Amino acid sequence: MPQLNFYKKLESESASFKPPYVIESGQGAYLKINGINKLNFCSSHYLGFAEDQRLKNAVCEAVQKYGVGTGYRTLAGTHTLHLELERAIAKFKGTEAAVIFTSAYMANAAAIQTILGKDDVVISDELNHASIIDAVRLSQVKNKLIYKHTDTNDLEEKLKEASIIIKPDGSKPLMLIVTDGVFSMDGDLAPLPEIVRLAKKYGALTMVDDAHGEGVLGKGGRGIVDHFDLVGEIDIEIGSLSKAFSVIGGFIAGKKTLIDYYNLKARQRLFSIALTIPDTAAALEAVNILLESDAPVKKLWENVNYLQKEFKRLGFDTGNSKTPIIPVMIGDEDKAKEFSAKLFEENVFATPIVFPMVAKGKARIRVIASASHSKNDLSKGIEAFGKIGKQMQII
Ligand SMILES: *Cc1c(COP(=O)(O)O)cnc(C)c1O
Repeated sequence: MPQLNFYKKLESESASFKPPYVIESGQGAYLKINGINKLNFCSSHYLGFAEDQRLKNAVCEAVQKYGVGTGYRTLAGTHTLHLELERAIAKFKGTEAAVIFTSAYMANAAAIQTILGKDDVVISDELNHASIIDAVRLSQVKNKLIYKHTDTNDLEEKLKEASIIIKPDGSKPLMLIVTDGVFSMDGDLAPLPEIVRLAKKYGALTMVDDAHGEGVLGKGGRGIVDHFDLVGEIDIEIGSLSKAFSVIGGFIAGKKTLIDYYNLKARQRLFSIALTIPDTAAALEAVNILLESDAPVKKLWENVNYLQKEFKRLGFDTGNSKTPIIPVMIGDEDKAKEFSAKLFEENVFATPIVFPMVAKGKARIRVIASASHSKNDLSKGIEAFGKIGKQMQII
């Protein structure tokens, strides 16, 4: 009975499944869990937009006017709000055009699968996000070269290797260098200026996934490409509408010719539904807020700088973070879990990050600051970290 064995195997493998905490509130400075407010130190709603009144109003208005669902973009599903959102994103990123998807996971899949054939070459940072790894698999590209994390000497070695690859028909393959902009476990940045220089030298295309950079880095939160003054120099920019923008969706931004090609060919756009009206209206409002004002980004950075300073003052090691993602290093996996559990008892919600998400012995508590926290909220969090850190002899 193979079916019976199949379910037995599932049962034993899922024995370790622990249901996640259930959130009974919105995603603001606090999360209500089992009726108790816990300080939210772990969500990527960097700008506090998840409960922003302007987004709520935009959604209510759009739903009253247009209802809820849309359709398939290429049939009867391209709504005027979709086009407005795509224009707003392109303006925000400083690119000629943009195309939206229902998630950044989808956008990554579309970005890579649509342009790479099996004989082309992809050159990828070893710590790239799972959605990039899956996108490369989906493209069925055979030549996958992985360079050491943010190591541009190693990247150049891989480019040299790639340069001598010839396709079966004798032509040169496309070479695509792909990297996260901000790495979400450490909060460190891709060395984009050097990546761009090497890409030019070896004739490669560049792709950066800026899911954690938008709304955070650069002028008014324009993202990592703006942060490094490289607007117009990256071929393919991926973004998520679920992190700083607090909604759902993803996009590809770049030259108009490239975006036209994705509009024509991307299977994730042809064979999967478009964003709904409320999602599109909320995301559009979020992008428009940032086009008009950098106040939420300023508030975010005040909080980030305060937290960074306070963690250092207490003697915690916070790694090499350049962003609101603050890895508070613990080391041992069990200690990190214990630390997080103790924080939870103190009504601070910050998740432990352990193997296999990070290397063994590099377990940490990942703290994420946001603009929705007040100074008082942050102090409460810091106080709990200090108390438990001393108790557990980590500081
Ligand atoms: C979160 C994240 C994604 C996935 O974004 P979704 O819009 O939730 O699908 C993709 N890439 C990176 C680097 C991310 O951090």
